[in-house]
Amino acid sequence: MPHDTLQRPLTDLRISVTDRCNFRCGYCMPLDNYDWLDKNEVLTFEEIIRIARIFVQLGVEKIRLTGGEPLARRDLDQLIAGLTPLDGLLDICLTTNASTLAEKSHTLKAAGLRRINVSLDSLKPDKFRKITKRGDLGKVLEGLRAAKSTGFNPIKINTVIERGVNDDEILDLVSFSLEHGFAIRFIEFMDVGNSNDWKSTRIVPKAEILRIINSQFPLEEIGRKNGTAPSVDYRCTNGTGDIGVIASVTEPFCSSCTRGRITADGKFVTCLFANTGYNLKVLLRGGISDVGLLEKLRSVWSKRSDRYSEERLVALQSHKGYDPRNRKKIEMISLGG
Ligand code: SF4
Repeated sequence: MPHDTLQRPLTDLRISVTDRCNFRCGYCMPLDNYDWLDKNEVLTFEEIIRIARIFVQLGVEKIRLTGGEPLARRDLDQLIAGLTPLDGLLDICLTTNASTLAEKSHTLKAAGLRRINVSLDSLKPDKFRKITKRGDLGKVLEGLRAAKSTGFNPIKINTVIERGVNDDEILDLVSFSLEHGFAIRFIEFMDVGNSNDWKSTRIVPKAEILRIINSQFPLEEIGRKNGTAPSVDYRCTNGTGDIGVIASVTEPFCSSCTRGRITADGKFVTCLFANTGYNLKVLLRGGISDVGLLEKLRSVWSKRSDRYSEERLVALQSHKGYDPRNRKKIEMISLGG
């Protein structure tokens, strides 16, 4: 298994299967028009499975399918069915906005998917539509209900908390999750991509999120899953609940970051905040051998030195401050979260 220059192994891979999404969430892709990828630029399922197989040979144990909205890619279940048999792969997860999950949950389960993460930032229909610009909360809740009745476990809700937008719903979202048996992860608002107008004043820091939850649901800390997960997890002191906070701004976790990413058009990216990636599609379509590809992936990872969130925190705490516009990044919609 390759380790990078900071001795971090490569064990997790996030694969974006499309840059398309039917929502326009402010923190991810607020623009109505964007330079979308042409169909022939997007990796085929065969190409994704080949890349995934070689990553698994290198030591990747977990794969998460992302987008854009991954369910916007037709026949996604066929990709899952091609990934589940990979020898050495322990876990496949899907991150979705769940707007079409109700009609697809059975085929996804039959293909071998066992767990699902759903992005959900508000339980109020009007606000939900405003945040997503076009989403229908009813469809998402229907998708969550369908996933539960289909037997997905765990079902995890991901909520980006932004000051003045949805910080008044933290307790309601915890209650909702406890009531339905969903895990929930609150995520600090981050400067992903180049279009979300990030300002530090719009963050609700982890400490404040925990203070709000503790006021009604006293928590005890469990810690990070496997010591490397982005989320610090908690349960209620009565033993129920699976609540976590991902504090990439106020408590960065770059030192234990084991995540690589593949963009929808086949670039191998070594950090969520990277401005470029290594073009694997050119190699694949140019006829590279499996051995050649494996050595290329090993070489890219072994040179990795990314620690963007740690550097951002240092800058935020310095007298100069931090301006996200100083570094152009890959948009989250083509990179996945
Ligand atoms: S900033 Fe980059 S290196 Fe740090 S945790 Fe996030 S993805 Fe990993």
